[in-house]
Amino acid sequence: MRRWRVIVVAVLLAMVGTAVPLAATLYMSWQMALATQREQLGRVAAFALARTESIYADAANTLRSIAATDFEHCSPGHIAHMRQLAIASLATENIGYVGSGVMECDIWGIAQQRIPRGDDGRLLADGISLTVNDKPRYSRQRPSMVLRLAGYEVIVDQLRFFPSPSLLPGSIEIRAPGGTRLVTEDPGPDAVPVSVAAEPDEPQASAARSSAMGWTVVAGEARLSLAEHARNAELLLLPLALFLAGLFAGLAIWLSRRRLSPRGELALAVRNREFRAHYQPIVELATGRCIGAEALVRWQRPDGSLVRPDLFIPLAEETGFIGPITDHMVEAVVRDLGDVLRRDRRLHISINIGAADIGSGRILPVLDAALTDTGIEPQQIWLEATERGFVDIEGARHTLAALRRRGHMTAIDDFGTGYSGLKYLQRLPVDALKIDKSFIDAVGTEAPTSHVTEHIIAMARELKLRIVAEGVETEAQAAYLRQRGVDFAQGWLFSRALPPAEFTAFCTRNRKTFGVPANVATQAAE
Ligand code: C2E
Ligand code: CA
Ligand code: CA
Repeated sequence: MRRWRVIVVAVLLAMVGTAVPLAATLYMSWQMALATQREQLGRVAAFALARTESIYADAANTLRSIAATDFEHCSPGHIAHMRQLAIASLATENIGYVGSGVMECDIWGIAQQRIPRGDDGRLLADGISLTVNDKPRYSRQRPSMVLRLAGYEVIVDQLRFFPSPSLLPGSIEIRAPGGTRLVTEDPGPDAVPVSVAAEPDEPQASAARSSAMGWTVVAGEARLSLAEHARNAELLLLPLALFLAGLFAGLAIWLSRRRLSPRGELALAVRNREFRAHYQPIVELATGRCIGAEALVRWQRPDGSLVRPDLFIPLAEETGFIGPITDHMVEAVVRDLGDVLRRDRRLHISINIGAADIGSGRILPVLDAALTDTGIEPQQIWLEATERGFVDIEGARHTLAALRRRGHMTAIDDFGTGYSGLKYLQRLPVDALKIDKSFIDAVGTEAPTSHVTEHIIAMARELKLRIVAEGVETEAQAAYLRQRGVDFAQGWLFSRALPPAEFTAFCTRNRKTFGVPANVATQAAE
């Protein structure tokens, strides 16, 4: 369940981690491509404008030259001079003399028909009147521009203004002073489209504008779409996408591994409070009466399975999570067995505490806070610590003494399995000693440890410590311990560790056998 959640999160992370930078890169490179497109169009517009101005200047100079002469109008010399000027000028198609309102002569000779003079057009700052998109009259059948001055007309083919379409990335629009758009007439498929009505900022098209002396050129092109750009950039972006996907997949795997490491799992379990307490009854060997229980932690995974403490307590001690786990256990005891403990003052619950908490004394305020106003007596809470908790002997002595002052009983757990011995026992204010299961197992066997049990019992007796035997599984072991005056025992012979409700039921059954304690009888009478 949890592993699946982590994997789903990891996959999502990889997808988002790849998609976001990829989209950002695509968007940024698209913006850059758009900027390049605008720049290109700007250059085209500037180029076309320079060309327009030079064509106009050429035609205007030709016009001014002819207007400055004083030939006899339409004399052979006059016509020859006009022809020379037209040949010398690149832009000029024809020059006509229209002094009397009709065309009298042009570079080809005396006019054969009476062609009326066109309209006056627009008077420019340089004194020349300009007409654009003029109907072709005495030149070829193309839209023409006519410059007029002092009875002369200079005709310019408007197509000259437009650079060859193959040189253009898009289309171009030229406007004469006054704003009139120059038309072209070529109808072929390669015709220069002049329909760019686009303004520079219109989103559908990219355009650039350049203007001087009243002339304006707008170069335009369909704006590069994001999809089109993505297609162009595919080859470049694909390796980046693969790289990012790989990177984030790796990162996700690394993260999920880290999350799912034993340490990560334990941290999560602490945060989610996945610990429960089970209670193993402790009985008085002489009578079989239940005098309490040891609280044993169980890690209940979200799927309901229980993890045994030996699988995670050592790790919890190592990583410092033992502190919060102990706190959960103290809370669990108060919550699970508060009623049972208030009802029967002779019952106690024994709680295991980690080595660090004994040395530091951290357990003291935890107990104080947990027991306040619960009606549970301190004598009803015993504490068990292994010899590892006594490495810091001064700290341990201080904590054990404080526990005793409060009324708690303390026991040395797993006694005999560590290196300590008498030396510790004499210097520490403990009340009881728990004989480890390994020694009980050896009872009645040929095992070399079998005689150690006897020594431990004798030593405890000498130091006036209570003895609890752990892991009693057979009646023979119980008889052996009973014979040697061992006070208490716990083990599968009596009961396994039980969930709270079952332990409560066990106590009720046990009480029926051994009688109702006095304080319960008085409570019932009230
Ligand atoms: P321990 O304190 O020596 O606890 C006794 C262990 O022996 C328990 O195992 C108990 O279920 C088991 N046991 C009791 N009687 C018998 C028996 O007749 N036969 C057999 N085969 N086993 C028996 P458990 O609950 O697995 O706990 C293992 C160890 O984990 C405990 O050893 C203790 O060192 C640690 N532990 C358990 N709960 C806590 C806790 O709340 N805090 C801390 N710090 N340590 C805990
Ligand atoms: Ca214990
Ligand atoms: Ca033990």
